[in-house]
Amino acid sequence: MRLKAWKGPGAISNMVGKKVLVLGGGFGGVQAAISARATLDASHEVKIVDRNRVPHLCGMNPLLIVGERDTNKTGRSLGRLANRGINFVEANIDLIDTSAQNVATSVGTLDYDYLVIALGAAYDWDAVPGARDAYSFYDFDYARHLRRRLSRLKRGKIVLAAAKPPYKCPPAPMETAMILNWWARRNGIRKDIDISVYIPEPGPLGVAGKEASMRVRSALSSRGIELVTSAGVTEVSADGREASFADGSSTTATVIATVPVHKLPNVVAASGISGGKPWVPVNKATLETSSPNVFAIGDVNVVPSGDFAIPKAGVFAAGQGTKVGEVIASRITGSSEPEPYAGVGFCFMAYSGGRSATVGGQFLAEGGPDTILSEPTVSGMKSKDRFERDWRSFKI
Ligand SMILES: Cc1cc2nc3c(=O)[nH]c(=O)nc-3n(C[C@H](O)[C@H](O)[C@H](O)COP(=O)(O)OP(=O)(O)OC[C@H]3O[C@@H](n4cnc5c(N)ncnc54)[C@H](O)[C@@H]3O)c2cc1C
Repeated sequence: MRLKAWKGPGAISNMVGKKVLVLGGGFGGVQAAISARATLDASHEVKIVDRNRVPHLCGMNPLLIVGERDTNKTGRSLGRLANRGINFVEANIDLIDTSAQNVATSVGTLDYDYLVIALGAAYDWDAVPGARDAYSFYDFDYARHLRRRLSRLKRGKIVLAAAKPPYKCPPAPMETAMILNWWARRNGIRKDIDISVYIPEPGPLGVAGKEASMRVRSALSSRGIELVTSAGVTEVSADGREASFADGSSTTATVIATVPVHKLPNVVAASGISGGKPWVPVNKATLETSSPNVFAIGDVNVVPSGDFAIPKAGVFAAGQGTKVGEVIASRITGSSEPEPYAGVGFCFMAYSGGRSATVGGQFLAEGGPDTILSEPTVSGMKSKDRFERDWRSFKI
């Protein structure tokens, strides 16, 4: 398809052109670029850098592993952002230098006036011995591998095992277990398949409150899914058939799929922007780091919310991207700064291939997070399908 040339939101201004550089083309980075571009005219440059031209939507993985999503339809090409006036650079980001205001990449050095760090969370596959060679549903290639294994599975035990918080999309292990239950029932093998979920937290979905946590527990137990809490996975045996946990227990299984340990990407840690903290601290109203006009959004940052932090989820990364785009545009154009970031967002939590709930709310409400877990419904699944389509066409 040939793309129309981008004309910009208005006439070219007399202002000296500014450079807005966005690192990472995931949920957060794309929304930051789109949001800034929506206000800034063509005299200003909006550039996005990612090593991956076609990022995949991880939120599809739980359905992808049971054959309910097409592996060719889980990505979107960042090159298509050109028709929105956003310049995409396919490159590895090697060094972020906030004092020199530039970023070294595999295709050269890029300077900036405003920087958005949206590089997500990296996986430390070696933090849990054996995890690298075990199964997982937290990465597209691992999910495709697990899909092939499940397509041949007729009996045995499946263990989903998270290592330690924080990890992306906290409902994902429970959601995946319920989807596996639905898949096994549909294939007539449920009586021959055991499903267990091990999580490091004292209960599922703690960030959404006690009531939501209890409801998820009972949803799992009514489906015959074993939930073991305060039991982060510490090791997977070399043959991938035995997992050990932080509570001293261990189990054997046919398929062990882990949620890997998440960490700050090395290039972000090396930049010093996190001040040695595990994630990048930011001003929660503007998502600005300790370095002026340098912002960090999405999984790479930490935004405290009551006793927890805003979950690492695409909806929050996207919401933060929109806010940061507005903040940057207001600073460039001299208009008044937008309302503070409110921490609002909902994640889908599918209970099967046909029904989905949502969990979320306002995470920066006065008096602590104000969240709700809805009932799983058919219309919830239709909304999830729409969300995936919208993501692929850059509406989210
Ligand atoms: C199984 C699963 C289910 C999920 N379900 C949901 C859900 O239902 N709803 C939801 O909202 N979220 C969900 N998530 C979470 C969601 O995918 C993430 O929270 C979201 O992608 C974070 O967005 P981000 O922009 O911060 O980072 P990312 O989307 O991870 O983007 C970071 C980008 O930076 C690039 N990058 C990193 N380092 C470099 C480098 N050195 N050089 C160049 N490029 C680099 C990467 O290629 C990547 O494209 C799920 C995640 C998983 C794993």
